[in-house]
Amino acid sequence: MLKTRALAGVGLAVAALLALTGCNSGSPSTPAGEGSTPTSDKPLFEVAKDVKLEGSPTFDRITKNGKITIGVKEDQPGLGYKDAATGKRSGFDIDIARWIAASLGYSEDKIDFKPIPSANREQAIVNGDVDYYVGTYSITDKRKAVIDFAGPYFVTGQGLLVRKGDDSIKSEKDLAGKTVCSATGSTPLQNIQANFPDTKTVGLDLYSACVDQLISKQVDAVTTDQAILLGYAAQDPDELKVVGEPFTTEKYGVGLTKGDTAFQTFVNDMFTNGGDTWKAIFEKNLGASGLKVSQPAVEK
Ligand code: GLU
Repeated sequence: MLKTRALAGVGLAVAALLALTGCNSGSPSTPAGEGSTPTSDKPLFEVAKDVKLEGSPTFDRITKNGKITIGVKEDQPGLGYKDAATGKRSGFDIDIARWIAASLGYSEDKIDFKPIPSANREQAIVNGDVDYYVGTYSITDKRKAVIDFAGPYFVTGQGLLVRKGDDSIKSEKDLAGKTVCSATGSTPLQNIQANFPDTKTVGLDLYSACVDQLISKQVDAVTTDQAILLGYAAQDPDELKVVGEPFTTEKYGVGLTKGDTAFQTFVNDMFTNGGDTWKAIFEKNLGASGLKVSQPAVEK
C-alpha cells in the first residue's frame, strides 16, 4: 500500500518538476523524455543515418536484432523513471540512453528498455541481456573487472534521506545506532557496511522499497546518491528531506560489454562532442533539482 502511494506520488513530483522548469507550458500532449523538449519543437538530438561501427560486437548484435536493449532503472524520479499510469519513461539517464541509441541510428520505437536492479547489472551485461546499461551506475574498479564503462557522464555523491520530522540525523556523522536502507549491490551500501561499524543496514532490491520502509519507520534513513534522493524528496516533500552534504564521489558510467573498445570509444566521443546536448538533457530533467553539476570529461 505504501509502495502504491509512493509511486502514485511520483507522477505529481514529475509534474511539479516540469511546472518548475516551465517545461509543460508548451504543448501538454508532448510527452517528456522522448527526444524533444515540450517548450520547443527542436529535438534534443537527431537519429543518425547509415551508422557504421567496425569491430564492435555490441553494434553487430544490435544490427542483427534490429533493435537496442538498454538496461535502466524505473523507480528513480528525475533519473530513470516509468510512469505506472502512462507507461512513459523519463529522466536524465533515460534521455542519455536515448541519445546513445539515436547516435547509433535507432529511434525510440527501436528501443527495448529493461529494468535491472543494482545488484544484477554486471551479470545482465556479461550475459548480453542488455546492449548497454544507463542507470546511476558508478564506475568502480571492482565492476571494471567484469565490464567496461563509457563516461563518466555525471558526478554525484552519497547522501542521506530521512523523515521530515526527524532532527536526529543531520549528516553521516549521526548514523551510529541508526538503521539505514540502500540497494543490494550498490556502492553506498558497501560504504556503510565497510566504514560505519555502528550502523545497521537493510539491503533491498529497489530504492523505492527503501523509501517505503523509511516512511513506515522501519528504517531511519535511506542512503544512496544525492541525485537519486533529491528525486524522492521532491516527490514527497511533506514526509521526506535530504540532509547533509555528499560524502563520497560517484561517477556515473554507461555499462558496456568488456573489451568492446569500439563501442566504448563511440559513446565517449559522443559525450565529448555533445556538450550542448548534455546540457539540454540536464536542464530538462534535473534543472529544477537544485543540483549544480557540469558535464565531466570522459576518462580514457
Ligand atoms: N551509484 C551507486 C551505484 O552504482 C548507487 C546507485 C545505484 O545503486 O544505482 O552503486
